[in-house]
Amino acid sequence: MRRIASTASLALLATAFSTAAFAHPGDHSHIGFAAGFAHPLSGLDHLLAMVAVGLWASQLGGRALWLLPLAFPAVMAAGAAIGFSGVTLPWVEIGITASVLVLGAAIALTWRPSLAVSLPLIGLFALLHGYAHGVELPAQASALGYGAGFVAATLALHLVGLAIGLAANRLPVRFAARTAGGAIAAVGAVLLVTV
Ligand SMILES: [Zn+2]
Repeated sequence: MRRIASTASLALLATAFSTAAFAHPGDHSHIGFAAGFAHPLSGLDHLLAMVAVGLWASQLGGRALWLLPLAFPAVMAAGAAIGFSGVTLPWVEIGITASVLVLGAAIALTWRPSLAVSLPLIGLFALLHGYAHGVELPAQASALGYGAGFVAATLALHLVGLAIGLAANRLPVRFAARTAGGAIAAVGAVLLVTV
């Protein structure tokens, strides 16, 4: 019951902050490293997905522990390059939002697929998160600085998720990580409805 209550309150929180729910509703006027670093922290869609990558990696363990948090920023950068090149990908915003729901649910349900499944899934989400920015990069003064800041913040968020997940794994309250996953999924569902 408490879990349901906390999940519900987080969803409400997300609704209350719905102006900050989507990191990019169209307006991108960011330039340089600081702006790039601030961007994933500015919207729940990026923030939660990136913390979720770390949380999920902590649940999967083994090679996923470091492969997932390294693969995501790498593929994200590739996604930005694809966007920069002018290639058009469909369903980017919905895909970004769905990544919050899917990753949160994976954590909540302690879904532990093999790397052959988790890695491509993380890659797909990272591609979409990166692509959205590559599309907008040509208009920006310092695409490289912005990109570096964005990747650095993403890595930091992965580490936050990893740290929370690993700490939770060591405690008898392992469900703490799952509850966090459930809350992330709930916010993802709310975002998906409002996208
Ligand atoms: Zn964004």
